[in-house]
Amino acid sequence: MVLTHNLGFPRIGPRRELKFAQEAFWQGKLTEEELNVRGADLRRKHWQHQHGLDLVPVGDFSFYDQVLDMSVTLGHLPERAQSTPGTELDRYFRVARGRSASDTDCCSIHAGAMTKWFDTNYHYIVPELEASTQFTLNPERLLTQIEEARSQGFTPKPVIIGPVTYLWLGKAKDCSDRLDLLDRLLEVYAELLEVLASHGIEWVQVDEPALVTELNSDWRHAFNLAYHRLKSASAKLLVTTYFGELRENLKLACELPVAGVHLDAINAPDEVARIADWLPAHKILSLGVINGRNIWKADLSQTLDWLEPLYEKLGDRLWLAPSCSLLHVPVDVSTEDKLEPEIKHWLSFGVQKLAELRLLAQALNNGRASVSGPLAENAQAIRSRRESARVHNPAVTQSVIRIDSQMGYRQSPYSERIKAQQQRLKLPRYPTTTIGSFPQTPEIRRARQQHHKGELTESAYIARIREEIAHCVKTQEQLGLDVLVHGEAERNDMVEYFGEQLEGYAFSQFGWVQSYGSRCVKPPILFGDISRPQAMTVDWIRHAQSLTDKPLKGMLTGPVTILNWSFVRDDQPRKETCLQLAMAIREEVLDLEEAGTKIIQIDEAALREGLPLRKSDWASYLNWAIEAFRVAANGVRDETQIHTHMCYSEFNDIIEPIARMDADVITIETSRSAMELLDAFKGFEYPNDIGPGVYDIHSPNVPDKLQIAELMHKAAERIPASRLWVNPDCGLKTRKWEEVIPALKGMVEAARELRSEA
Ligand code: GLN
Ligand code: ZN
Repeated sequence: MVLTHNLGFPRIGPRRELKFAQEAFWQGKLTEEELNVRGADLRRKHWQHQHGLDLVPVGDFSFYDQVLDMSVTLGHLPERAQSTPGTELDRYFRVARGRSASDTDCCSIHAGAMTKWFDTNYHYIVPELEASTQFTLNPERLLTQIEEARSQGFTPKPVIIGPVTYLWLGKAKDCSDRLDLLDRLLEVYAELLEVLASHGIEWVQVDEPALVTELNSDWRHAFNLAYHRLKSASAKLLVTTYFGELRENLKLACELPVAGVHLDAINAPDEVARIADWLPAHKILSLGVINGRNIWKADLSQTLDWLEPLYEKLGDRLWLAPSCSLLHVPVDVSTEDKLEPEIKHWLSFGVQKLAELRLLAQALNNGRASVSGPLAENAQAIRSRRESARVHNPAVTQSVIRIDSQMGYRQSPYSERIKAQQQRLKLPRYPTTTIGSFPQTPEIRRARQQHHKGELTESAYIARIREEIAHCVKTQEQLGLDVLVHGEAERNDMVEYFGEQLEGYAFSQFGWVQSYGSRCVKPPILFGDISRPQAMTVDWIRHAQSLTDKPLKGMLTGPVTILNWSFVRDDQPRKETCLQLAMAIREEVLDLEEAGTKIIQIDEAALREGLPLRKSDWASYLNWAIEAFRVAANGVRDETQIHTHMCYSEFNDIIEPIARMDADVITIETSRSAMELLDAFKGFEYPNDIGPGVYDIHSPNVPDKLQIAELMHKAAERIPASRLWVNPDCGLKTRKWEEVIPALKGMVEAARELRSEA
């Protein structure tokens, strides 16, 4: 019999119940006891969704983050949180979110750093390590949940982050070698495994996704050390890898002295045969056969075609699971009643993915005939998607084929075209601008909701937004900014707004995925060939420009960011989809230019997010991603100025490809790093204009003029004055007008002073 299990279930709940419970607790509207009841309730529902699986994950649920949970299990919260008053949960949230001192609380604590979980859009709290770090076992959370699952009739399989990946995810605060902590850490892991075994646990899922990354010999050796140390554990270990191929680590993984290995067969299909051959005969091979990263139905017959011979070979040694935790997909598609039925029929969220898994197991265990009905239904859905005219638009495919190298190039090099632009724009030195959005007030959101529900007519809504734009333009004029924006009041979100106007996109109502803590995103679903039926932003921009004599920037989201923040098709390469998006944005760029827009900004906020896990794969991604941007942006005349914006502070490793985008101006986040980031721009001379952010928009603090001036001086030391712009780090939509106005006022004054100095 093939055994089925799951690596993790989405924890936010089908209606974001977890988010609302967390936030109520943080606001003091829910007691700790009540929060715990809600947590237990969600866990119960999640296990019910996993009924029929042989093993269910336990410990995958979290009140904030699974890495922070592991830190708690290892008795390893940052020292600053250890002596604060309050309960353990209170300390946990202090580290998760940070907390400032108040009348009722003496202790101000900064949050743990947060960073991207491998190549997903989930973010975890980074373990803070130093040479003196000690660990002590704290198994309560796991033990409680094991009991819960068992009392509800499930066979629990605790999920923990493996010791090597735990250190790999952490950051040494004192420059010590993280691996020096391995021995100490393994003591606690050994103890944990004994405790779990003594509670009747047979299998433990030990997540070691670091195995799909490039590891040096020390880290590879650490895997050997770790699992030889844990070899005598009474519980059986399933070393679990996901998100990619094992490549040079495949042999290492096969040889670890553990009871089983999980391989992501979706992302590493070519390694399945090899691992099945290499894995010693006493070990279990768990295969991730259902994609835990996208929302498409699996082609079950095709999966069975290659699974059946494998099952014949491995017999009971074969286990089936999703490729990774289902944390990265929404919960349940069945309640999506606003989706086109045809499209809905192609989709599979967490609950549906588990049903697919059960079907595969039944087909293997009892023969395909035993599930012929559901298999036929699946085949019909797959066929309908493959053949649908909604998906395939030959004109779009043709337009991508016709992209030639010419299309990504401006007419003249930057050094020449910048002169034409300067002549036309007549901007002072150190021109001031913003990144695009201005405060999204509750009134604007309400108007959009009313419009959505049909309570506000189209024309009333347009009038309302136009008023907002007028207010925004007028305010910027009064502040004395040099390049204005319309403020993006009409946009709910920088990707969804464009998705809604493009053919080839669909939108779920409840397709939320956790990004971090209580923050969820609802990625739009890119299901078909992308085309732009009509201009998307031109009317708003034209209106805004008509209100001022200052140049007004057109504002677009770039193809790479739209791609990286959507659920995308799995029936063609990402590159192909990205180029389709690029063609649609290119049309918009040219329409804006035609309408007289002198400056067009194309945001690529998520360019970095698409980077593959292995550095050796970066170049191929960057090649097509940069090409897509170039196709979108560079069709304009010399005198039209192209801006781009990126909002993160790591550039040193991708600066050269970014320069290849050849935007006339790039605006970036730098204020928090005190311009140190610009040093990255030094080693490689960034050739075009740069606007390093001088106002940290993530904080409600209003920076004063002196602070801003100091940052600008630092920037001016690093970048020639003729190529320096002055702007905030990012858009202002999350800020309040009362914060934005004094901050921008200081920024404009600081720029004026800088001008008068030289
Ligand atoms: N133009 C967008 C804004 O200002 C950019 C947002 C972003 O970079 N995340 O909101
Ligand atoms: Zn930004």
